[in-house]
Amino acid sequence: MSTNCLFCKIVAGHIPSKKIYEDDLVYAFRDINPQRPVHLLVIPKQHLTSLQQVSAADEPTLGRILSVANQLAVEAGSPGGFRVIINNGEIGCQEVPHLHAHVVGGDQPVGPMLKRLA
Ligand code: AMP
Ligand code: ZN
Repeated sequence: MSTNCLFCKIVAGHIPSKKIYEDDLVYAFRDINPQRPVHLLVIPKQHLTSLQQVSAADEPTLGRILSVANQLAVEAGSPGGFRVIINNGEIGCQEVPHLHAHVVGGDQPVGPMLKRLA
């Protein structure tokens, strides 16, 4: 656990979350500020800051994050598909420095992938 990390504190149960899934490698919960009807966060239980820091040893955890996404999306109310977004570092506009995959969906298409910069 990284002592000052918000998502490590959520995994440890020190900060409340709306947990929807947990296994040996990952923890999933509802985003506090959902951008779509379904908006989940799937995170590694062990602290990883972003994809900028991962190594081959992290591949089982990274694979698990993706392999549970469909099951969680379907159960949360997005059976027709979903989008996975992982923001990394400053250029990726990552706000919480503990790796997390956003799983977004619902009953309507989530929309264009990125807005073109002005
Ligand atoms: P990112 O910009 O990719 O780092 O996304 C961070 C996400 O974490 C945002 O969608 C926030 O709404 C979400 N978030 C921040 N704090 C919490 C929290 N305590 N519980 C659930 N989601 C959170
Ligand atoms: Zn952390």
